[in-house]
Amino acid sequence: MGISWQALGDTVFLVSRDGDRPLLYAPLQGLVLEANDAYVERFRAALGADEDAARAIGLEPETVADLARVPDEVRRTFDPVWPEVFEPTSVTLFLTHKCTLRCVYCYCEGGAGRDIDWPVLERAVRFVLGNAQRLGRDARVAFHGGDVGACWPLFRRAVEFVEAESAAAGVKTSLSIGTNGFYTEEQAAYIAAHIASATVSIDGTPAVHDRSRITPGGGPSLATVLRSLAIFESGGLSYSIRMTVTAESLPALAGSVAYLCENTHARTIRAEPLYARGRATASHLQAPEPEAFVAAYRQARTVAEGYGRRLTYSGARISGSAPAFCSFARPTFGVTPHGDLTCCYEILHPDDPLAAEFFYGHIEPDGSAIVVDEEQVAAIRAGAKTRRQGCAHCFCVYACAGDCAAKTIDSGRGDGESTGRCEITRALVYDMLECALAGQDPTKPTGEAPPVSAVAVGPHLCVERS
Ligand code: SF4
Ligand code: SF4
Ligand code: SF4
Repeated sequence: MGISWQALGDTVFLVSRDGDRPLLYAPLQGLVLEANDAYVERFRAALGADEDAARAIGLEPETVADLARVPDEVRRTFDPVWPEVFEPTSVTLFLTHKCTLRCVYCYCEGGAGRDIDWPVLERAVRFVLGNAQRLGRDARVAFHGGDVGACWPLFRRAVEFVEAESAAAGVKTSLSIGTNGFYTEEQAAYIAAHIASATVSIDGTPAVHDRSRITPGGGPSLATVLRSLAIFESGGLSYSIRMTVTAESLPALAGSVAYLCENTHARTIRAEPLYARGRATASHLQAPEPEAFVAAYRQARTVAEGYGRRLTYSGARISGSAPAFCSFARPTFGVTPHGDLTCCYEILHPDDPLAAEFFYGHIEPDGSAIVVDEEQVAAIRAGAKTRRQGCAHCFCVYACAGDCAAKTIDSGRGDGESTGRCEITRALVYDMLECALAGQDPTKPTGEAPPVSAVAVGPHLCVERS
């Protein structure tokens, strides 16, 4: 993929692909321009306070100084003053480890395990609603599993409890779900009527999807999932699609994206390379090679754009500045089926080797107390900061901020080191820079002009769940 780069100080980078003319990239200002050698040399001198050099390339010395400075608001983002009191207004309830599918690459062994205790759920919901009421904010409740289809009565009871408690507290609460979409018609209609947004995992064509996302009896699931989507659409539920791409399914990626565009109305389709944990390791599934993933992704992106849809990859962000790749360091208030507090959507089992890194407390089984380990919270936040600082050399650091913490820790990537995911991120960020340079908004599906020089990235919620 041949992406090379050089940091000109903390905030400006020279980035090139395969030795092409470099792009001068100032991520904090959302500035990208193509530069020849003479321009680069003068820019370099200008950064060294050579005012004549700055004027020779049409920049005022103050402008150059601004480009070289990390604004105070960005510094505050990187070194946030965390609230002393833990009072989240959103919660992710992992209702169950159980699942209605047995995907061959499931990282969390979906299908085996337990449901959450009702008093634990009650306590978590009342906690966030109480915080939202006191702080005058809206609340958010997200449901995950496993899959809620495997604990349907519990899911319905939870939804209706959240609705009733929100009404009683006078709090506006939005409900979302991460799901496999494998429902009866009645279940899909219920979700459409009660849930505002969903992320649905589908891998592509029947040949691709039904090879990996199988029922407990080994049967196909796609037709049922597509029926659910049709019901979601007619009920007005907003959803996006999340694809897991393996080495085996990669050659079919463009065809799979075309299939999803033809058969669903999803505006956004996210394609993520498999990260082999859990069942994927036992199944000997391989992640795609980074270079091959990028090539297939580019083809598929063109296909999606042809349908007016947007294909995304989690690391491909070109603006904004974040203290961490996702919201885990706040920390995310996630409650597992065992009642543990987790800040990672993938680390749900107490016997997961990464549980010690991502669990930071628990709710007593009878709901009598929420116990937060403040030292562990501090360690989680400090880890996020260290991880981002270890990436300071990279032109993607401000938006990528050190990548998914779970994968980084699991892979053992050290400060200053890169992984295959970094190669993908850099190549696709470079594509976005080229797109911006051509006057297009790289976050929109087709040639819409960017509203401002900086292009916003999506919310830093976990995008890794399958
Ligand atoms: S990947 Fe998701 S849908 Fe598939 S078995 Fe695991 S939890 Fe269930
Ligand atoms: S992006 Fe990674 S660290 Fe963040 S919640 Fe998802 S899996 Fe966990
Ligand atoms: S994780 Fe990789 S791509 Fe992301 S900022 Fe760090 S080095 Fe760059």
